[in-house]
Amino acid sequence: MSKILKNWVGEEELRKTAVRNVGTPWYDMDTGEQMGYAEWKPAVMEETGGEFLMMKHEDVHRLLHTLAIAAGAKIQFGATVTSVTPGDPKPLVTLATGETLMADVIIGADGSTSMVRRMVLGREDDAEPGGFTVFGGSVSADEMKKYPELEKWATSEEVRTA
Ligand SMILES: Cc1cc2nc3c(=O)[nH]c(=O)nc-3n(C[C@H](O)[C@H](O)[C@H](O)COP(=O)(O)OP(=O)(O)OC[C@H]3O[C@@H](n4cnc5c(N)ncnc54)[C@H](O)[C@@H]3O)c2cc1C
Repeated sequence: MSKILKNWVGEEELRKTAVRNVGTPWYDMDTGEQMGYAEWKPAVMEETGGEFLMMKHEDVHRLLHTLAIAAGAKIQFGATVTSVTPGDPKPLVTLATGETLMADVIIGADGSTSMVRRMVLGREDDAEPGGFTVFGGSVSADEMKKYPELEKWATSEEVRTA
């Protein structure tokens, strides 16, 4: 994804929103003991052509939204799709309002309970709950710098994982 975004928005724009991850130390959440370290070696990253970048989900959305609008896409929010019909000659999408939309191609990016995937496969394919709950949040670097034990993580290029 970092390779694609670099190509589409340019390195400068990416530098404003993303931070580079050069290594990931893994910690046991219960004991605090370091369990391992994944290093994203510069030579390997250079060979892959993309860096390991960390950015907020909302920034990915914002960049993609701006790119789509600039490319002429029309975006309709709050449009619930109730069915998708395979192409003959072209595929159709029906909205909850009853409106139908025809397209050359339909991209079914409708999440973990995807209706499009169900239609393509001809069977249920909902993701099984994994039994884990993930909490995400953002803390400002200025706030972290006030605490000695957090300060080093605000300025580090490593992304700590527990
Ligand atoms: C906690 C968490 C952390 C993650 N971290 C990362 C990460 O660091 N890096 C990474 O690459 N990935 C990460 N992922 C995975 C990534 O978020 C998903 O792979 C990605 O969002 C899937 O994109 P999608 O467009 O297929 O589905 P989604 O992002 O789920 O979007 C589906 C959209 O379709 C809409 N929709 C669904 N049904 C209908 C309908 N009938 N009509 C109209 N609209 C509908 C939904 O409202 C939603 O807006 C993470 C996921 C989670 C949960």
